[in-house]
Amino acid sequence: MSPEQFSAAVLDWYDRHGRKDLPWQQGITPYRVWVSEIMLQQTQVATVLEYFGRFMQALPNVQALAEAPEDEVLHLWTGLGYYSRARNLHRTAKIVVEQHGGEFPRDVLALAELPGIGLSTAGAIASLSMGLRAPILDGNVKRVLARYTAQSGYPGEPKVARQLWSAAERFTPQHRVGNYTQAMMDLGATLCTRSKPSCLLCPLRAGCRAHLLGRETDFPTPKPRKELPQKRTLMPLLSNREGAILLYRRPASGLWGGLWSLPELDDLRALEDLAARHFLQLGERRELPGLTHTFSHFRLAIEPWLVEVSSMPHAVAEADWLWYNLATPPRLGLAAPVKKLLKRAADELNAGESP
Ligand code: SF4
Repeated sequence: MSPEQFSAAVLDWYDRHGRKDLPWQQGITPYRVWVSEIMLQQTQVATVLEYFGRFMQALPNVQALAEAPEDEVLHLWTGLGYYSRARNLHRTAKIVVEQHGGEFPRDVLALAELPGIGLSTAGAIASLSMGLRAPILDGNVKRVLARYTAQSGYPGEPKVARQLWSAAERFTPQHRVGNYTQAMMDLGATLCTRSKPSCLLCPLRAGCRAHLLGRETDFPTPKPRKELPQKRTLMPLLSNREGAILLYRRPASGLWGGLWSLPELDDLRALEDLAARHFLQLGERRELPGLTHTFSHFRLAIEPWLVEVSSMPHAVAEADWLWYNLATPPRLGLAAPVKKLLKRAADELNAGESP
């Protein structure tokens, strides 16, 4: 297929089958497209649908996001994971307001320089919300193009990435570029799926090399496997008489940066030091079922302990520590496993109270 035939086939498929009713496809603005693209980076559409509406309701435009406290942004992001995305979103909003007069730059390279926006997301924002001709190469499009061109090699390798970008550039049409971009993403998400592509329904099958070879799932080449190392930590849920749990805010950079978390300890002995630091007297303690959280580069085995605080002289005095009231939780950004553990603690404490 020539590039013209390729894009015509994709656009024709879009007219007949493409998704046109997603919330970020209504009232299109660079802001709405940008937020949706960042949410979609590592998250399924079905999950993003839950979060996008809430996010837009609370922070309807880039000014509102720039002015929002970081805790509010992280709170709206709680559960979506990969929190650096939320922090970058916040930083970018401030840059757009302070340095670009509140308007996203109409230029792919300038967009790609903003925190959290790589070339592909910049291409998506430019084509979907500004109608600029810009190729994209997100995970779905990478899969379609790697199969269509039977490109071997892991796409994380620069040489392979260059080949795929060059294919993306070649096939992107001059007109209806927004519809084309949406169609390519949809095609990858709905037809050219990871393990069972629906080639018979695909508008590209006549020219798709992987299909012609009968080797669709051999492309793209998967990432070379590496066993993830495991770390363990003990997380105490220190519960005071009002049923509130002691949390602290993680440093702004690094894992769960800026989120509120439970203390992380090596062992139960360190619990005594923590109590001494906050002038707490510890009461009964019991272990809760453990859980494992997987990060991109290691697995964290968490041993949670519910620990009663039988006396405490005053509220905690340090700014980065607070008592999190389980009955009337404040709006804070919480690390996903911490949210789960707080729920478990609430269930345990409620069970303890029932007759
Ligand atoms: S023909 Fe099959 S493998 Fe090729 S792009 Fe279409 S769905 Fe993917």
